[in-house]
Amino acid sequence: MAIFEDLLERWDGEQAVIHRDRESGGWIFICMHSTQLGPAAGGTRLKVYDTPADGLRDAMRLSAGMTAKLAVADLGLGGGKAVLAVPKIPEGDERRALLHRYGDAVESLRGAFITSSDVGTGETDMDAIAERTEHVFGRSKAKGGAGDPGPFTAVGVFHGIKASLAHVYGTDDLSGRTVLVQGAGSVGGALAELLGRDGAAVLVADVDTARAALVAAAADGSTLEPESALGAECDVYAPCALGATLSSTSIPELRCRIVAGSANNQLARAEDADLLQSAGILYAPDYVINAGGAIAINYLELHDRSQAEVDTALAKIGDTLTEIYARAEATGMTTAAAADALAASRLQT
Ligand code: NAD
Repeated sequence: MAIFEDLLERWDGEQAVIHRDRESGGWIFICMHSTQLGPAAGGTRLKVYDTPADGLRDAMRLSAGMTAKLAVADLGLGGGKAVLAVPKIPEGDERRALLHRYGDAVESLRGAFITSSDVGTGETDMDAIAERTEHVFGRSKAKGGAGDPGPFTAVGVFHGIKASLAHVYGTDDLSGRTVLVQGAGSVGGALAELLGRDGAAVLVADVDTARAALVAAAADGSTLEPESALGAECDVYAPCALGATLSSTSIPELRCRIVAGSANNQLARAEDADLLQSAGILYAPDYVINAGGAIAINYLELHDRSQAEVDTALAKIGDTLTEIYARAEATGMTTAAAADALAASRLQT
């Protein structure tokens, strides 16, 4: 257990709840990194880790990321994250029982932590958690939730791409622009359609080639081989699949002017932001441009706001990026550093 002690000592967060889940043989970690701007909010990750400490480390790291993301999104929320580190992914009744035990743990925090879905969990899991606590969002529409956040995230990325085009080319007009959408899933599929509708030439790459073909057809675009897609000539590369696609190996291959997509943790290392800057590629910081789902679900489920208010808030993602780009240009810092500085300034007040 010394390793838990070590992790907790080095972490700069406020509070970690560690619950040994004897029934599943797993662990529940709830990390509340910051409640300075409001309750600590963040998704629930259900995953098999090599060691329990790896699960706790992940929850700590991800919760800090949520503090920055939600500070920039200006939602009056702090940052948190939960990890359910299990020996194997449970299904059926076992899964439901685990989610109930976890829901009880969330309830015991009486609103200091609020959660939604993340890797390994979805809206039906949030419905199960909601049977034990009201401090959960991202529930299914059938249970009064806002449903899949992907299409909302796509709208935010769309506004982010327009703001990035305006910064680089002086106009946000998409006609005549080529956008590579990597990952034709919940976000990428909706994004490709929005881009195609606005006149962009859309290139779609997905390891699921049938899905890529469907999405490309809906966007009036074309498909690319997923292995070689990154080297395609385009104005915008929108990573909407995996993280860490921007690295010292991939960046020299890119033939785009802008990277703007939904994937989390796009930079393999923090220094890769410098490589992008040196290559003359504008990078839309991932946690700023991909906040649309969190914003929409928060507005719709927690604050009962209207769709028109959601639309305005999603469009504001473009304005926030414009502000970040201006700050980066004025100071010479990378756009990633400018986003971090904006988050830090919101946390200072
Ligand atoms: P998804 O699982 O619906 O879609 C991901 C797609 O990427 C799948 O179609 C998959 O086949 C494809 N893919 C996987 N590996 C690939 C590869 N090497 N090359 C090309 N395609 C590949 O996921 P999603 O909800 O659309 O999310 C996409 C990304 O955006 C993820 O990184 C996610 O963490 C991030 N994100 C999503 C949301 C949201 O609201 N869904 C919010 C913030 C961030």
